[in-house]
Amino acid sequence: MTSTATGGPGLPQERRLVTDIPGPLSQERLDRKKTHVADGVGTALPVFVTAAGGGVIVDVDGNSLIDLGSGIAVTTVGNAAPEVVSRVQEQVAAFTHTCFMVTPYDGYVDVCAELAELTPGDHAKKSALFNSGAEAVENAVKIARSATGRDAVAVFDHAYHGRTNLTMAMTAKNMPYKHRFGPFAGEVYRAPMSYPFRDGLSGADAAARAIDVLDKQVGADNLAAIAIEPIQGEGGFVVPAEGFLPALSAWASDNGVVFIADEIQSGFCRTGDWFACDHEGVVPDMITTAKGIAGGMPLAGVTGRADLMDAVHVGGLGGTYGGNPVACAGALGSIAAMKEHDLGARARAIGDLVRERLLDLAERHPVIADIRGRGAMMAIELCEPGTTTPDAARAAAVNAHCHRNGVVTLTCGTWGNVFRFLPPLSIGDDLLHEAFDVVADAFAATA
Ligand SMILES: *Cc1c(COP(=O)(O)O)cnc(C)c1O
Repeated sequence: MTSTATGGPGLPQERRLVTDIPGPLSQERLDRKKTHVADGVGTALPVFVTAAGGGVIVDVDGNSLIDLGSGIAVTTVGNAAPEVVSRVQEQVAAFTHTCFMVTPYDGYVDVCAELAELTPGDHAKKSALFNSGAEAVENAVKIARSATGRDAVAVFDHAYHGRTNLTMAMTAKNMPYKHRFGPFAGEVYRAPMSYPFRDGLSGADAAARAIDVLDKQVGADNLAAIAIEPIQGEGGFVVPAEGFLPALSAWASDNGVVFIADEIQSGFCRTGDWFACDHEGVVPDMITTAKGIAGGMPLAGVTGRADLMDAVHVGGLGGTYGGNPVACAGALGSIAAMKEHDLGARARAIGDLVRERLLDLAERHPVIADIRGRGAMMAIELCEPGTTTPDAARAAAVNAHCHRNGVVTLTCGTWGNVFRFLPPLSIGDDLLHEAFDVVADAFAATA
């Protein structure tokens, strides 16, 4: 079952349905998956992929689907982006692995230099590279603990930080991430998030509420770090009220608490800036990155103030594959593409188009209770009309309709009632409009 298909932006940019979704050839493979792959590994849209690029995903049956998911905010520069493919091909033919802790190579250092340049703030910064977002978050906590000599870590309602033991403890939602997987790591404390649609609080008031919890229930002197997604991902694309992040960051700084921005989903041009923190001029002490960083290659980073990063003893950070040379080549290609094509601007333009389509949709469908997000990270929250009661069933029905009609969409949120849009920034306006025509049909068909 090998494929010689070529993906990338040269693929015909069209929605094309030649079978039901999933088609017979995908169905055969699904039966095989059922035999060989653990049931715990689910799939949201079970078509088997042969090629992808621009704004489409092509399956084994010859269907071409419009991609509004980017493999969960990963293929920001597009699937099989030329800048990524050429660098990866060159690197994989030169050497595949040495382990940076054994014999180093330029790609790793080049990625760290890019991270120092691109992440918020012009202070001295250093980085360490890992394989997954969860691993980056774990290491950010390790570094913050080592640097402060404190244990406690503060996280927020609706947070998502990964699926390892520590990051499960930091993640809020039970199903499917934590259920029956405990006991979880200790010294993790949860504070209320700013969620304007649900709490109606100003950023300052929401920050005061969170700080009160941290101050009274944890104690600033016990806190090593606050970890927060500047725009929450899996938790429902919750955008905190203006002023919330700056107030938290200022409090952390006044109290010697390391402020960690988890930009694994929101980073690398996704929101229209290099990082979501940039929007309010927040300069985190440490930032975690992954997903969009490397055009689909598994790579993650922790970037922080040099004095914090260097607090850890030599040999204290690492891992066999962390900063693998092929993944680093992918990151350098992806970052080059973001700079060359000004993908931040493209994300802002996509955000304008999507917001306009969603505003129009919300006028006709009162189930759409909130429209939020920034750039190419937009979402709608579905509630029973006139209330804040989540309508997850409607979200699931709309989602299923989109899938059947050749649009890859994703849901999220604590209540599963948020419909999120994460198109690759390589998608064209025509395809984007066609995808939102399908979304509009889905709302009409499920009304
Ligand atoms: C996806 C995600 C993670 C975990 O990344 P993995 O690569 O899946 O381990 C952590 N934090 C945020 C904000 C994420 O979106």
